[in-house]
Amino acid sequence: MQTIQKERVHFAFCPEQPPQARGRSGEIFLFECQDCYCGQLNEDGMDFSQMDMSRNNPATGPLYIEDAMPGDILRVEILDIKIAAEGAMCARDGAGVYQIEGCHCRRFSVEQGEILFDKGIRLPVRPMIGVIGTAPAQGSVPSTWPGEHGGNLDIRELNAGTTLYLPVNVPGALLSMGDLHALQGDGETAICALEMEGQVTVKADVLKGRKDIPTPFLTTKTHYITTAADPSLDVCNVKAARKMHRFLQEHAGLTDAQAGLLLSLAGDLRVSQVVNPAKGCMMVFPRGLAGEQFDR
Ligand code: CA
Ligand code: CA
Repeated sequence: MQTIQKERVHFAFCPEQPPQARGRSGEIFLFECQDCYCGQLNEDGMDFSQMDMSRNNPATGPLYIEDAMPGDILRVEILDIKIAAEGAMCARDGAGVYQIEGCHCRRFSVEQGEILFDKGIRLPVRPMIGVIGTAPAQGSVPSTWPGEHGGNLDIRELNAGTTLYLPVNVPGALLSMGDLHALQGDGETAICALEMEGQVTVKADVLKGRKDIPTPFLTTKTHYITTAADPSLDVCNVKAARKMHRFLQEHAGLTDAQAGLLLSLAGDLRVSQVVNPAKGCMMVFPRGLAGEQFDR
């Protein structure tokens, strides 16, 4: 298993990003990840203004996968996520949806799978990846943005056991990831989760001739999830829902009317985050309900 070390980070997804490792389709890789502050928030109560926020959301990579060519799909199986024993957060006015007085940098411990929050509140961890993506075909997308290439998705379901499908836009795909969270709620409403250093183990496979997968697309053990990003939440939720609408027509042989009605009954349209430059929405639909054929 190849390891991509945590020093090998970048802050933008682009075709010109120099590969930090090379591998083949079907291999397993370990990505070491710094936290989203590059470890700068290292003391409870520290002064936020002392942090260099140009070093925000480091993504470890990119990994060049020899067999990946534009038009392919990269299937990333998240096998394991290990997180550190302590993480960081910061609440401040104007960051996220709340009015908060002052600026509050915090660190919280994780013990036996629980976050030790204030006032004796203990929260079970649900480790996830915030930033994961491939290079776009052109241009440069900061690692603070989500988009069709993935990036700063901040989707709670990006846990161990989930499979993520990403587009291959450039030779090698150029897969990178970072911004691990011990726990995050839908919306990520105060602009941060419990931000963690850690390691992610993934298996990366190149799929040829799969034009039917509406990337970035997730499968969990129980659900299919289509995703979309847009600066407008109104646009974003329609995009995510319509991706699933097409998916069900294609994979379950439903008419447009049947797929629409079924989604209105059993699909959950959710907000993944409202705090990144483009907002994130997803349509979540139970696997197997419509007899769909996907995992060929
Ligand atoms: Ca994030
Ligand atoms: Ca984060």
